[in-house]
Order: sequence, then C-alpha cells, then structure tokens
Amino acid sequence: MSLVDTSMPTDNEKSTPRKNAAGDFAPQLSTLSVHAGENRQKPGDSITDPIFCASTYTFANTQSVIDYIEQDQAREEYGRYGNPGERVVERKLAALEGGEEAVLFSSGMAAIVGLLMSKLNSGDEVIFFDECYHRSREFCTKHLSRFGVVTRQVPTGDYEAMAAAITPQTKLLVSESPTNPHLSCIDLERFTDLARRNGVETLIDATLATPFNLRPIAAGVDYVLHSATKYLGGHNDLLAGVVVGSTENMESVRNLRGIMGAVNGPQNVYLLSRGLKTFELRMQRHNENGQLVAEFLEEHPRVERVYYPGLSSHPYHEVAKQWMHGYGGLITFLLKDADWRETARVVDSVRIPRIAPSLGGVESLIEQPLVMSYYQCTPEERQQFGIPDNMIRLACGIENADDLIADLAQALDCAND
Ligand SMILES: *Cc1c(COP(=O)(O)O)cnc(C)c1O
Repeated sequence: MSLVDTSMPTDNEKSTPRKNAAGDFAPQLSTLSVHAGENRQKPGDSITDPIFCASTYTFANTQSVIDYIEQDQAREEYGRYGNPGERVVERKLAALEGGEEAVLFSSGMAAIVGLLMSKLNSGDEVIFFDECYHRSREFCTKHLSRFGVVTRQVPTGDYEAMAAAITPQTKLLVSESPTNPHLSCIDLERFTDLARRNGVETLIDATLATPFNLRPIAAGVDYVLHSATKYLGGHNDLLAGVVVGSTENMESVRNLRGIMGAVNGPQNVYLLSRGLKTFELRMQRHNENGQLVAEFLEEHPRVERVYYPGLSSHPYHEVAKQWMHGYGGLITFLLKDADWRETARVVDSVRIPRIAPSLGGVESLIEQPLVMSYYQCTPEERQQFGIPDNMIRLACGIENADDLIADLAQALDCAND
C-alpha cells in the first residue's frame, strides 16, 4: 500500500541506507518523514494527501454495514473513530518513532490523560520522576486520585528512590527526557531494567527530544508520548499529541480515545502532516542553534549558569551523550546577580524571540518561568520546583544562529545599563 514499510527499522545516526533483516532497503528518518504512511497513489492523483472534511462515512446499503461489522473491514465509520488523513499521520509517526502503532490525540495533555486512563485501574500506583510536566502530575494527583489511583513522585534521576517506591500495586513508571526546564536526561537502560525486574511498564514523554534525538522504543520503553504541538508540528500553529507503542498495547488507548472524543479535526491533521515533511531539516537546525546559543551564553559574563545537555557542564551531559543524537533547541539559563525585574528586562530587550510559552516551532520563543508558569506559586513552591527569579527559558527556533546570538548579546548588554 505505501512505499515505505513502517515496520522497517530506522537509524538517524547512520548516513548510508541500511538493509533490514529481510535485506530490503530501510529508509532514513528524512525519507520517512516525507513518505512513510502515505499511499503512493492518492485520490485525484494528488501528490499531497487530501483533507477529508467528513464527520461521518457512508455505506452503500444495509448489507455493507453488516459486512463492515461482521468482517471487521478496514474502512471509516464515524469521525470520532478515525479519519483517512489521521491514519496517514499515525502511520508516519509510528515509522518515525520505530514503533508498531501511533494513536493521535487533540493535544499532548489529551494523549497523557488518554493513556493513563486506559491503563490504570483503581488501586494501581504510578511513579513519576518529579521534573515531569506539572500538568501531567497534576492530572494524577488531583484527578486520577479521585478514582483510587495512587501517584508517587521521586527525585528525577534517582533510580534507587524509584526502585524503593515500587510496590506490588505499581503499574507504570513515568519520566520525561529531557525534562523541562532543567533538561535532565534519563538513562533509559536503568529505567527500563528497573521496570522489567519489577514487571511494570514504562512511559517516556520525549517531547523535548523528538525521535530525531532519542529512540525510547529501541531502548525497550513501552510507551513514547509527544506533544506534537512542539517539534513534530513545528510551526507554532497547531495542538496535537501522540502515543506510540505496540499494536497490542495501543488497542485500549485507541478505544478510549473513541469514547473521550479527544480527536483532531481534518485540517489540523493536514497541518501536522505538512509540518512533519521538514521534520529532520528543522531538527538539525534546532540542534545546531541550541548548541551554538548555549555555548555563547555559557561564555557570557552576565550569565551565571546554563542548562543545556550538550554542554559538558550539564550534570546529565554524559547520559545525554550516550542516549541522544543531538540536544534540541531548548536552553535554560540564570542571570548573574539579577532580581526578577532585571531578568524581565533581558526578556523584554530581545528583538527576535517572541515572549510566549511553548517550544519546538520555527519561531524562537523566550520566557521567564517565574512569570509565565509559576507566578501564582509561593516562593517556597518555586524553590521546591527549582525555579529561581533569575531564570530564562529560550526555545531556539530555526532562525540564523549568528542573528540569535547577536540579538541576545544586545539584550544582555542593554538590560545591563
Ligand atoms: C507541551 C508539553 C506537554 C503538553 O502538550 P500540549 O500539546 O500542550 O497539551 C506535555 N509534555 C511536555 C514535555 C510538553 O512540553
């Protein structure tokens, strides 16, 4: 059906085409991002996939409804259960991730909620590394708790604490890699070993890494999750989320999504599929810009500290080097001897990055976590989350690195006056 067999292995670190076990041509990530999951010949002989603006799908007669049900035919029925464009994007995402099946949701949070709701029962326990996205943890502590699911949180990267928190009721270990905004990276071997020894499953939210920089499925992780709002969509113009795992594991996730109704409209799916075409090119530039800007900031006299996994000063640099192909566009840094107002002056002085939450799009975004995400927290809570007043988070887009560096240099200088 499609040119690219989505079951074939991918390896973005190899520059020469590989053969899979059957001796077939195994395409690289950039080829997959353009072609995987698509039918070679499309409706109307169009080179692009059409947008099917359909809330429902028709049957020729009563017998074809009965055949569809009795023979479990592969066709559409009703928009909440799937759309032809959505299936193409799901196959493409599964191929990029090197997983069997992807289930697309209307946002990253819908994907997290859908996955956890479909996998956890009353009395089950889930363990998080504590730097995970606060809304994910909030869903567990404030909402899953009402249904009798117990959430435990242990310090990020403390595998002994995670091992000690596992009980016979534990079902799932959860982490991000890298985390936001501290960019801590997970040793996937220790993480999956721990899970295997205890007979529990693992989930990695790899939004900040993307399949270009991290391959959690190849490392034995059961579920990989992305906010496709970020690098996968890549243009700051859509919300979407995805979970990738084995076909067997994804069945209950897909069924619950059909009930939740957290699905994408067909135009949104097209935007995501369009964004994915340039996925590898964009990631190469995000990685380059991230590294160059982080190195510039680390040398700057007004900067106290830079969190970027590609810097040898980062506490997780060795882990990152072992597991990651590149380190992405997100950089967190602290200003030297600056209070929150002086920090805000630097944010307000940049001319290229825009002030906004989010990351992973072509436009660079900048924000002060104290103001953008933690304004209503007490100083004690901010200290607990590791969010000092002088922290800035910069999500490098795909602009020219020299331009970004020159802009940051003038912002750091003029806010110094
Ligand atoms: C943005 C983000 C989410 C939530 O995704 P939405 O698409 O905004 O719902 C989850 N995890 C991480 C790491 C994120 O950056």
